[in-house]
Amino acid sequence: MTLCLASKGARDRPSPAFFPSILPPSGDRYRFVMTRPDRQRALLIYPRFAGTSFWNYRATCELMGAKYSAAPLGLITVAALLPAEWEVRLVNRNTEELQEADLLWADVVMTGGMLPQRADVLHLIDAARGRGKPVVVGGPDTTCAPDVYARADFRVLGEAEEVMAGFLAAWQEGAVEGVFKAKGFPDLSRSPTPRFDLLKLDQYLHVGVQFSRGCPFDCEFCNVIELNGRTPRTKTSVQMLAELDALRTLGYRGHVDLVDDNLIGNRRAVKPFLRDLSGWLEARGQPFEFSTEASLDLADDEELLSLLRAANFFAVFVGIETPDRQTLLAANKRQNANRDIARSVRAIHRAGIFVNAGFIIGFDTERRNVAQSIADCIEAASIPVCMVGLLFALPGTRLARRLEGEGRMAKEEARYGSEDADQCTSGINFRSLRPRHEVLRDYRDVLERIYSPEAYFRRARRAARELDCSAHSIRPSLRNAARDVRAAFGMLWRMGVRDPRVRAEWWRSVLDCATQNPAALKILLSFAALYLHLGPYSRDLVDRIDADIGSATKRGKPRHRTLEERPLPRA
Ligand code: SF4
Repeated sequence: MTLCLASKGARDRPSPAFFPSILPPSGDRYRFVMTRPDRQRALLIYPRFAGTSFWNYRATCELMGAKYSAAPLGLITVAALLPAEWEVRLVNRNTEELQEADLLWADVVMTGGMLPQRADVLHLIDAARGRGKPVVVGGPDTTCAPDVYARADFRVLGEAEEVMAGFLAAWQEGAVEGVFKAKGFPDLSRSPTPRFDLLKLDQYLHVGVQFSRGCPFDCEFCNVIELNGRTPRTKTSVQMLAELDALRTLGYRGHVDLVDDNLIGNRRAVKPFLRDLSGWLEARGQPFEFSTEASLDLADDEELLSLLRAANFFAVFVGIETPDRQTLLAANKRQNANRDIARSVRAIHRAGIFVNAGFIIGFDTERRNVAQSIADCIEAASIPVCMVGLLFALPGTRLARRLEGEGRMAKEEARYGSEDADQCTSGINFRSLRPRHEVLRDYRDVLERIYSPEAYFRRARRAARELDCSAHSIRPSLRNAARDVRAAFGMLWRMGVRDPRVRAEWWRSVLDCATQNPAALKILLSFAALYLHLGPYSRDLVDRIDADIGSATKRGKPRHRTLEERPLPRA
């Protein structure tokens, strides 16, 4: 029934006035045809990320026998908010093909994601609607730029816990289109356990859970505060441990990523949770180890560091952005402005947690020596894995509003880059104060310097020496142990034997770690595995930037080669 209800003709049927009991709150709008049955079939599709990406770790996934790095937590949370009688299927376009049969099966298609997924979301909307299937689209990019998705039948804007009830009520009553906007931020203590059972768990390097949303800071370029607010909201320990129990019951073991905006944004809430988590892990034989994202002021809180350490945290992503104090103050990243960055990173390493960091080039206030100072900072702090990107004015941010006000934003059609652009390649979507080619040259110089095999493995060796891993106590399952042994041999062959570019550095690093700090060997090998992706990815990026600034042909280099054209040797 729902198929024909969603067709164009059906939209001209009765208006909401016929259903006064569910008239939308102001700001929402939708139209109705007739009530739908309780049992519906929802096809949830996680869109494909555009092109190559810093984050997809394609070669690393191959080595580990996974298809993609992270599982789609947002969609399985949406699935948990659907009525129990609904049938739900999940297709992740990053790990599998969408079958025609799946589309034909569905009563409704639900999709949405982030900016790098935009092109695929639009493609999916057209594919579903072309088959007469109504489409619901949501997620961060839809919330920030709803007009882009106007051709979807339904748009849900804001966090799912806040809008799904309104959408479902309207859907059940027969709505055929609508816009549903969250009126505030939901209380996460009422968020359901995500439907982990919908995931094919062996497809991923890690699975995500989430303790909090929001961040107390106010960095000008960040869309977290626009999307999730500045007062971090948290789940309870009971909820979190129930989620971990659900994962464990499904047989999952190993790496769990806490995908919080800033895990330590609400310290009063996170500390008791970490204590509970340590007890839970101990009682269940240490089934999981964790990574997360946090602000650099984590380094100042000894108690928090030891709680994270006791709860098997081994990695944290930190936004450092730039070592330039003036730029940090101008971007309102004050928590990083008055500190010794290298010393802060070392404090985190001493707790047995390695730091991955984000850096940005393209700020108005940065100086001509920015490339040198960023590369020096990365070197001094011994951070092997750095996401260095060009400043990007995300829709809805204070930065985008300021640049718009100054008349500096790129024209609408050029604002979000080409379809295959990612966070590293689509930046500077505005008129920069320094000449654009200078910014790009600085960017390529940083990449070339930090991702040469010598520099990368030198940092990896130093980080591995600094890490105190004595408290790590994950007990690997037999399956994970067999996978790790297979991956170690695969890496030995690919990096230690076949690839002349990294062979010497790989052996030197493995031997250094084995003799100086053998407890960190697993992490050292993880750094090496990540370089399988980061090495070729950074070289590809440098070629792209060269092509962009027109210097490639002058130096006789090829203008652009794709990752597929220049992979590392394979086993
Ligand atoms: S600390 Fe990180 S998450 Fe928080 S506002 Fe700044 S960039 Fe965003």
